[in-house]
Formats: sequence, C-alpha cells, structure tokens
Amino acid sequence: MCSLNDNDIDEEISTLESIENNIILDGKQCQKCNSEDATIKLRSRNVYCQSCFQISVTHKFRATLGKSKIVRPNDKVLVAHSGSGKSTALLHLIKAGMHESVHKRLVFQTQVIFIDEGMINNYSIDKRQSIINEIQCQIQPLEFETFVASLAVSLDQNNFAEIEKIQNYLILDNDKNDKQLIEFFNNLTSETSKEDLLKKLRLKVIVHAAKLLGCNKIFFADDSTSLSICILTNVSLGRGAQLSWDVGFINNLYGDDLIIMRPLKDFTRDEVNYYLHMHNLKAINSKKLMTNTDSFSSIRKLTEHFLTDLDSQFNGTMSTIFRVGEKVSAVAGCSVDQNEHCILCDAPLDTSNLGDITSAIKATAFSKLISSGQTKNSGVNGINNCSDNSSENLVEPSNTDNSCGNCAENCCINNKLNTLSSKDILSCLCYGCRLIFNDSRNHQLLPKFLMNNAKEQLCLKSMRNEITNFLL
Ligand SMILES: [Zn+2]
Ligand SMILES: [Zn+2]
Repeated sequence: MCSLNDNDIDEEISTLESIENNIILDGKQCQKCNSEDATIKLRSRNVYCQSCFQISVTHKFRATLGKSKIVRPNDKVLVAHSGSGKSTALLHLIKAGMHESVHKRLVFQTQVIFIDEGMINNYSIDKRQSIINEIQCQIQPLEFETFVASLAVSLDQNNFAEIEKIQNYLILDNDKNDKQLIEFFNNLTSETSKEDLLKKLRLKVIVHAAKLLGCNKIFFADDSTSLSICILTNVSLGRGAQLSWDVGFINNLYGDDLIIMRPLKDFTRDEVNYYLHMHNLKAINSKKLMTNTDSFSSIRKLTEHFLTDLDSQFNGTMSTIFRVGEKVSAVAGCSVDQNEHCILCDAPLDTSNLGDITSAIKATAFSKLISSGQTKNSGVNGINNCSDNSSENLVEPSNTDNSCGNCAENCCINNKLNTLSSKDILSCLCYGCRLIFNDSRNHQLLPKFLMNNAKEQLCLKSMRNEITNFLL
C-alpha cells in the first residue's frame, strides 16, 4: 500500500512553513459563505475561510468512510501511524469524529501502531527511543492505545511478543533480528529495491499486529498525492497487477476479516497541510530512507519529483492520475492467479500460469535470452542463478513440478526443500519482488521466513500437482 503505505511520501515540515507564507489572499472573501475573509487557497483558485474549510474536510472524511458502508460501530481499527503529517491528520480527524453529536459520532474502537524502523536508517538506540517518545507525546492528548513493533519482527513472524504498548517498548542493544534486517537491506544494491522492500516488510508487520490485536480494519493515511505517485511507481516497478491492493480505497487481500482502508484518499496534500496548520499539529520526521532529498536516488523519488513538478505547472495532474489509477486498479487485480501468493509481499502471483499469454515477463525473459547470446537449450540446462531462470520460464512456462519423473513418491520435493535454489525462491515471488531478489548481492543472506515460506509454497504446489495428476 503504497504507502503504509501511511505509505510513503512524507510531508516535510518545510511544506508547512511554505503554507504559512502563502496564506495571504489579498482580502478575498470565502467562496462558500461569501461573508468571511478567505485564509485558505486550494488548487490555485478556490479560496475558503477556516470554518468552511473545516466543514468541508470533516464532510469529505466522513463521506469517504460512510459511502463504503464497510465500517461498523463495533469495528476495531488499527491506524498505521508514522508520525508523518498525513497520519497525524488522520488520527486527529478520527478523534474529532468521536466528539461529534450522537448521530454523527464515530464509534469504532481505535488503536494505533508505530513501526520502529530506525535500525535500517542507522539511528542510534537513543535516537530511536527519542522518536518513540515524541510519538507517545504526540498521541497522548488523543488518548488512543498505542503500540510499537520493530520492523525486525517481519523476519520472525512467530515472535509476536515484540509488539508492545508504547510505554513499555524497549530497544535492545545488538538485537540479532535488527542485525539480520540491516544485513538484508545492505545486501541490496539500489535505493529503489530498499524502499520497495521496506514498504512490503512494514505492511507485513502492521498486518500481523492487527491480527494479534484482534483488529478487523487497518487505516492507512495515504492521500491522493501519495497514491498518484504510488500508481506510477508501481507501474514502473512491474507491480501494475497489484494496483488494486496498493492504491485502492479498500484492500481485502487478507480476507474479509481484515480489511485495509485509505480514508484520506480524496484529500490533496495541500488539504492535509492546511488541516495540520489550522490545528497546530506537528509532523514527526521518523524516516530517512524514504525522505532522501536526491530525486534521482530511486524510482519513487524520481516519480515524486516528476509529478510534483508537473502538478505545479498543470494543476490537476495528480487528481487525473489518481482517478485513472482507481479505474485501472479495479481491472488489474482480476488478471492474476488468486490461488498462489508471493512469499514476500503476499500479493497473488502474477508470474505463474502464464500459459500462452503474451506478457512483459516473457518479453523481458526473451530479451535477456537473446542478449546473453545463449541458445534455447543452454538457457534451460544448468540454470543455477536467477538471471537465467527467467529464460527457463519462457521456454517452458508450465514446468513448475519438482518431481524427477522417475519416482511416484515425494522423494524429490523433500530432497529439494532442504536445498532450495535461487530458481525455487524465484518461482514463489511476484514480478516486483523478483526485482528485489535479483538486486541482492548475496542470495545466502535471505531471511529465514522467505526460505520457510518458499518451502511451504513448493510443498503445496507439489501436492496440488499430485492431486491434479491423480484426478486425470
Ligand atoms: Zn466561509
Ligand atoms: Zn511479491
């Protein structure tokens, strides 16, 4: 979700300062009530007074939640909070909704989760602890129960004891999971892969936290600006088939018992920033990896820079992309196999059962085969590394059976599971996650959960094939 996520684009504090400077509107009157002086300017032309802006923002938030009719009074909602402006505004809007008059009141139960990812930013323990303290001070007046989970929890999904209430959270020195996580990230060569991986791992931790806390909804604070950037970034990263889960208002990838929602999807970045300014709310900058100021450091940063620049010249660029993306995402999710899921990002596999369908994956594999100067046979035989593997899929796309053909029993699959090759892992990854995998310097440094998930997936696949063969 592009952007846990609260995903990704962080409002910088400087944006808030620039808003303060832009707030002078030459004595124009609010276009809504025509009586008050306008203090807020949106989309370079619409001007409002503070109270009309507040009414419109509250209405928009409630309408987005209400229209879906999915949120129920007895729901338990987990809000993913990063300290960013977007999630700060979301928490404030929820709290304000709880103090409305009886028939308008939001009555669902709200809990908050903050992911401690300071280790991959090389923050000291003191710095990480001070960010957590800041988050605690920020949420205290809102009185929401708040939890903290380390990003390293994603590596050991059976160890949920590490999700703690914020006041009890302690960061251990030299934590082995932290070390493994840092190693995993340092093993990747590009910032693009690191950002993509971070997003996927963060989502994993939030989903597991929600399950552990018994929540049936997760709220992400993505606004239309971050979703527009996410749409183009996703397409650039080969994650077009996952658009419906990454940018859609409702994401039911984890079943109807745990639905991810984005109630700020219709908010522009300016609206969020004005809201923060009006209520004197301050964002906390807790991330470094995602806020690198070099616009060429990753595909996401480049997309953000490109779109922000374009939107400043052609107002409405973001909303056009967002509206188109919403429609595309509804279709994109239908074209993938829903039975098999990627072992890293949990999305349905877009790389299996391609059959005779022409796809970008096959085109890339074919291009790679031709560029490598290999014949088809040499492409199939002796494939041991991931770059050759895609060639094999091209030549024999349905060859996912792990049996040797000489034995009726499961001997082959059992032997194979003890020695997973890069090829085995790749067969369990979606196209986007394959790019992350291919970007890693040393495949031996993969976290254990990936190996375990791959073994489980291959085993299931083998059993499924056996049953199919038996029925035939
Ligand atoms: Zn007004
Ligand atoms: Zn994936």
